[in-house]
Amino acid sequence: IGLSHVRAIAPYVGGKPISEVVREFGLDEGKIVKLASNENPLGMPESAKKAMAKAAEDLGRYPDSNGFDLKNALAKKLNVPFEWITLGNGSNDILELTARAVAKEGDEVVFSKHAFAVYPLATQAVGGKAIEVPATKDYGHDLPAMLKAITSKTRLVFVANPNNPTGTFLPAKEIETFLEQVPSNVVVVIDEAYNEFLTPEQQYDAIAWVRKYPNVIVSRSFSKAYGLAGLRIGYGVAQNNITDLLNRIRQPFNVNSLAQAAAIAALADVEFLKKCYELNRAGYAQLTAAFEQMGLRYLPSSGNFVLVKVGDDVNAGAKVNLELLKAGVIVRPVGNYGLPEWLRISIGLPEENQAFIEALKKILN
Ligand code: PMP
Repeated sequence: IGLSHVRAIAPYVGGKPISEVVREFGLDEGKIVKLASNENPLGMPESAKKAMAKAAEDLGRYPDSNGFDLKNALAKKLNVPFEWITLGNGSNDILELTARAVAKEGDEVVFSKHAFAVYPLATQAVGGKAIEVPATKDYGHDLPAMLKAITSKTRLVFVANPNNPTGTFLPAKEIETFLEQVPSNVVVVIDEAYNEFLTPEQQYDAIAWVRKYPNVIVSRSFSKAYGLAGLRIGYGVAQNNITDLLNRIRQPFNVNSLAQAAAIAALADVEFLKKCYELNRAGYAQLTAAFEQMGLRYLPSSGNFVLVKVGDDVNAGAKVNLELLKAGVIVRPVGNYGLPEWLRISIGLPEENQAFIEALKKILN
């Protein structure tokens, strides 16, 4: 039973949960370091915990289906109409809703090789044809090649900036040139799940593209810099023509009350965001200095994670990953992204990064 295009989908494999590693390797839970899911090493902001506790008193009621307070806060912050915002159960929800709204069986969806795993999933789930465009030699999106890959059957393009798992970044100018040339009936998702980790020099205004192009949707997440991964909340920003479609097909209560309350608090918590940004910069410097010292190749990353090459053969990533697990360090193998010699390390607290570095040194020596 089941549709053939659904049977053809390879299920998403996330970072191993700590409990699973405890069971499999008989390790003490307190000693495990998890740097596998690009989570916020600071955890959830206190402000969000408080707001969530208050919202928890009233869980007998349904959430606000229209997300009034959070959408208002976002509309104000981004200076866009309230109607341009769609809340999602994680930003994954926005990616999937967009695919469901614009693509059907046989339609083409364009994205880069080594791009985020949910793009092929969302494409295949609607019976669409995934057009995976070869990456640049630096593992980034090749936007001119992606533009060339667009045909009369293309309905959707996913652009991740920065991309996961490569951490590659596209300067605004390149995206602007791309958007100018994409046919207006092709929707472009600009996935900015890691936007808050960009340096001030890298930052750009994607919302300006939403104002300019009715076929652009920007998606963002509360899972990373805002520390709310477990609550599942993200949002999309697009003009009415797109949000109206998403609103028709989303589940009526796709974002729960706790997540809405926590996100409002997190959005206002400027201090937390700043602390998290600085911690990430310091952790990136710490990890990359160690890679350089060890003579390991890594990809310059604009996210809260780094890809490091741990060997030359196709089993290198899996092998080193297993040894790291035995040492109580959970990172992310990326063989499913066509990068079997590499591991993706989420940037953690200084002591977590150090524990990983020590374990890796032992394994590679
Ligand atoms: N986009 C990218 C590029 C990601 O890496 C992720 C998380 N792994 C997401 C979107 C989805 O994140 P969430 O659903 O937690 O908002």
